[in-house]
Amino acid sequence: MTTNNVVYTKKPQEARTNRHGLRVTVRVLFLTIFAWIITPNSPAQQNSVRFIDVNGETIAETPIQSQGEQIYLSVDAVRQVFDPVMTDQYNHPRKRLILKTKDQQIRLQMGHPTVGIDPSGLTHTLPTPPIIIAQQPMLPVAFFTQILPDFYNLEALYNPSLQRVQLRPKDTWAPAVIGNSPNWAIIIDPGHGGENDRGCESSTGLLEKDIVLALAKRLQRMSEEQGIKVYLTRQTDTKKTHFERIQVAKRNQGQLFLSLHCNASFSPHEKGIKIYLNNPKGQLRFPSNAQAALTGQRLKPLAQANFLKQSQDFAHALQTELNFLTEAPVELTELPLIALSEAYMPAVVLELGYLSNVEDLEKLSESEYIAGIAQAIVRAFQRHISAINPPVQSTELEQEQ
Ligand SMILES: [Zn+2]
Repeated sequence: MTTNNVVYTKKPQEARTNRHGLRVTVRVLFLTIFAWIITPNSPAQQNSVRFIDVNGETIAETPIQSQGEQIYLSVDAVRQVFDPVMTDQYNHPRKRLILKTKDQQIRLQMGHPTVGIDPSGLTHTLPTPPIIIAQQPMLPVAFFTQILPDFYNLEALYNPSLQRVQLRPKDTWAPAVIGNSPNWAIIIDPGHGGENDRGCESSTGLLEKDIVLALAKRLQRMSEEQGIKVYLTRQTDTKKTHFERIQVAKRNQGQLFLSLHCNASFSPHEKGIKIYLNNPKGQLRFPSNAQAALTGQRLKPLAQANFLKQSQDFAHALQTELNFLTEAPVELTELPLIALSEAYMPAVVLELGYLSNVEDLEKLSESEYIAGIAQAIVRAFQRHISAINPPVQSTELEQEQ
């Protein structure tokens, strides 16, 4: 991930065995050390945690202290990230810390995992207790991701490999209500398939058609656990035409169409997740329509035009969720996608990364990374469904009856 600089600087050393060998070696050695010093984001050297919002914008970057595997933040970080008016009292002899927010107080005892909340009297247990470092009370990162967000009606997701915490408004997702709604079906379309359409291929032999099928199946399983019905346009390694894929969507009355792909580029530097949204604006000028005109077919009404807003909403939800996993914000592009133009439902294409890029390939080969992507997509489904079918309040139901 971040050791590439070192790898690049080592290569010339092996290649150049001429009479300037020694000088080159010294220079390479120097560059290697320099690259090691300046290499950013290596968890071992990073001494801060970055808190970001749903758009990936930084809320605060706070210094950390490490003790073994654990990282700790200061009391000041609570003010920086959550609550500028929070006050704190620390009793040195008793090693007790009290944090006061507007209407509640949080009691912590150094060395103990229990967190007490007043006036509710509730308690929580931290996986790691707060400790004293250099005579100051220090709070484990879990306090910032599991306890504090609740106080401010937020949710936090922690990405340890980037040392990044994303804060977002609490999900209003209510699976029981959505699960009972018979009309909700999502169509997941793993791109390509079969021997003649393998999609992109990595230098290590990883195939796009396999990556997207495995993810689609995982998404189906995870979504159905949440009460969201999912249909796949292909279940196996078989070839499917665009027409057949759209037929699956229509037959099952899908309300959202998500097509999964990977990218490849001649440039090894091109990388990252990309989201494409089907915006049919300008579709009539698209050259491939010439073929339809030749065969005498009238152009289909712009089925997708009715769903542009929903496609945008879902694409933004997806972007928000995926931003959490990536170093740089995920790109979202709107363009006419002919293959999806007959889908009578919001439609989005997700390109998971470049098989031609070393870093993307490494990530896409890690099951943990794929699991993170799957979770992000399912959260985006939930967010999207909640926005369209907001959870019904019991009082509203009573009024309707
Ligand atoms: Zn593809």
